[in-house]
Amino acid sequence: NIVEKTSLFDVMKWAEQQFHDCLMNTREGEMARRYLMEDRGYTEETIQQFRLGFHPNDWQWLVNRSRGHYPESLLSEARLIFKKEGHSRYSDYFVNRVMFPVRDERKRVVAFGGRILPGSAAEGIAKYFNSPESIIFTKSKLLFGLDESRQTIRETETVVVVEGYTDCITAHQFGVTNAVATLGTALTETHVSYLKRLARKVVLVFDGDTAGQQAAERSLTKFIAQEVDLRILTLPAGKDPAEFLEEQGAEQLKQLIADAPEAWNFKLNVCVQKFGLESIDGQHRILEEMLELLASSPNLTGKIREDIILRKLADRLGLNESVVRKRLSE
Ligand code: ATP
Ligand code: MN
Ligand code: MN
Ligand code: MN
Repeated sequence: NIVEKTSLFDVMKWAEQQFHDCLMNTREGEMARRYLMEDRGYTEETIQQFRLGFHPNDWQWLVNRSRGHYPESLLSEARLIFKKEGHSRYSDYFVNRVMFPVRDERKRVVAFGGRILPGSAAEGIAKYFNSPESIIFTKSKLLFGLDESRQTIRETETVVVVEGYTDCITAHQFGVTNAVATLGTALTETHVSYLKRLARKVVLVFDGDTAGQQAAERSLTKFIAQEVDLRILTLPAGKDPAEFLEEQGAEQLKQLIADAPEAWNFKLNVCVQKFGLESIDGQHRILEEMLELLASSPNLTGKIREDIILRKLADRLGLNESVVRKRLSE
């Protein structure tokens, strides 16, 4: 329904403006403004570019402001407000949070991410959450920052995918303007098939923590068969891209991105680290784990990609290719 979608885009744009105004021009927004500018080091230009905002600590804030402008049913459809169980009145969905507008490729706001301010964290409250899905928002399809990075992605034929909103924004501020972020979910098939059309090379940059390492290995299995130049980078010493940039600067990150190993090679490096190349047992385990990866990757069997990987693997392990291939088919 085109009319309905149009009014949803409309109300989202209005909400974005309310949050942004609150952040930039009110006393209520002062803490959030200080957090973004002083703690996170965002410039005013960056805040404007991404239209960041703040929703104050009032469950009726948006509901009240919408009166006489938009019907509650529309705000509810946009997932800006909802009825708490057993309540008859609407409440705002995001409360006391820094607001990150999520846009589609046509720059229309379709969702928000909200982050609590440091210090207002409480037991059982998530640091981040996103708008629930709606008619205009499908989580597995969207990438944060794509509207801002499209140009550079095309020019460099490379897209850099990071985990967090803040990583993406910091990357842009530091001049890594081909960065996009997933919305707190793993990268999906839909994401990848879309990115493939924009860029030849997709570099997944994961946080250097346990969660990041696991996410890296999972995406590997999922995407190794995809016909795209997939690179995987996990950052050193527990850092995420934002932290890394603040400490090491843009040139260092760009270098790591440029040197990021191909997906299969990333996995091989992980295995070599884990088992060691020196002993027979180590080599054996590396081979087993690599073959397991290849065997469990959907759509890889029989493809030229598989041939190439097998040859390179055999090379690195100093084995005969036919031996490796025979093993795979067992
Ligand atoms: P920050 O730097 O603001 O503290 P971050 O982006 O480094 O946050 P991580 O904990 O590394 O946060 O998580 C990466 C991403 O995963 C976040 O940007 C967010 O999109 C998502 N995320 C994190 N925690 C949650 C959560 N509790 N619920 C939903 N999504 C989350
Ligand atoms: Mn993390
Ligand atoms: Mn972070
Ligand atoms: Mn992080």
